[in-house]
Amino acid sequence: MTVVFDPIATGTEIQRRIGVKTSRDEPLARFTTMRVGGPADLFATAHNAFELRALVRFARARGFPHLILGRGSDVVIADAGVRGLVIQVRAEGSRVDGERYIAESGVQMARAATEAQRAGLTGLEFGLAIPGTVGGAIWANAGAHESDVAAVLESARVLAADGSEAVIPTRDLELGYRDSRFKHRAPGAAAELILEATFRLSPAGPDTIKERLDGIRRWRQAHQPLGLPSAGSVFRNPPGESAGRLVDAAGLKGLRIGGAVVSEKHANFIVNDRKGSAADVRRLAERVRAEVEARHGVRLDFEVEFLGDWGASPP
Ligand SMILES: Cc1cc2nc3c(=O)[nH]c(=O)nc-3n(C[C@H](O)[C@H](O)[C@H](O)COP(=O)(O)OP(=O)(O)OC[C@H]3O[C@@H](n4cnc5c(N)ncnc54)[C@H](O)[C@@H]3O)c2cc1C
Repeated sequence: MTVVFDPIATGTEIQRRIGVKTSRDEPLARFTTMRVGGPADLFATAHNAFELRALVRFARARGFPHLILGRGSDVVIADAGVRGLVIQVRAEGSRVDGERYIAESGVQMARAATEAQRAGLTGLEFGLAIPGTVGGAIWANAGAHESDVAAVLESARVLAADGSEAVIPTRDLELGYRDSRFKHRAPGAAAELILEATFRLSPAGPDTIKERLDGIRRWRQAHQPLGLPSAGSVFRNPPGESAGRLVDAAGLKGLRIGGAVVSEKHANFIVNDRKGSAADVRRLAERVRAEVEARHGVRLDFEVEFLGDWGASPP
């Protein structure tokens, strides 16, 4: 059955039932770190777990398309935008309970890292390198500096596709290299929603942890093009290999299409340095992939997620 999505009526109903304001034809570029992407038919921000839960349940019950957006740091949204409702997660409650750090899914990983440090808890320092939310980090099993979410996550509170809610232990989240069960939903099923995370950390001196944070900060500034819009690593590392090394060895640093260019500083980053479009980014990513395959015989898989209305085929 085709569900007709009426943004005006839906926005009014969301405001009346959930008390959340919505906007129509909201340009999404400013909600992503790549700074590309056209409008959402309807856009709402969830400021707490109650609103987040309610918005997702509302969309699921009516069967219309909806998309969860954290900080948009692992996505490239199409120039044509996103059909249906985009729900931006800004549920940002957090607390420390003994050696546990508990955060709603909209808490930024960098904030989680500094709050844990202030509480004298070590383990989340790598979060400083991840410009996304706790929810996005679990989705990706984000990691850096020889650690990842899997190493410190005890459990996640999840709104399942069937509408039930449960605290799921990490061993059941299928976390692997930049992978989790959240990336593999059953055909036709609603995407699972991450509401909250509990991290199990270890005590350490705040000064020792701060030194580690400073080290990570310095490393990032030296090795990543931080001043320019990007979505981090474009490709996954093939087993035993570095995608960045393959791109570099193929002589592709500096390759440009429109406003998108392969970073000179980090070959696995595409930066958007001249107000490029999503199509520029995707065309360049596909071109890099083809050149690497021709040169090294390795077909790279995308780390970034292409979301929204890309039409029948890539540009
Ligand atoms: C400069 C830069 C450096 C980066 N460095 C690293 C790095 O070192 N290591 C690394 O692993 N990554 C890195 N990234 C990638 C990115 O920051 C991470 O993947 C991050 O975890 C994405 O979080 P997000 O909130 O931005 O997710 P988004 O990009 O907003 O969303 C990504 C996906 O997660 C889903 N999602 C988001 N929140 C939820 C939720 N609550 N419930 C269910 N699904 C959800 C979305 O629907 C979407 O499918 C980098 C990115 C940039 C821009």
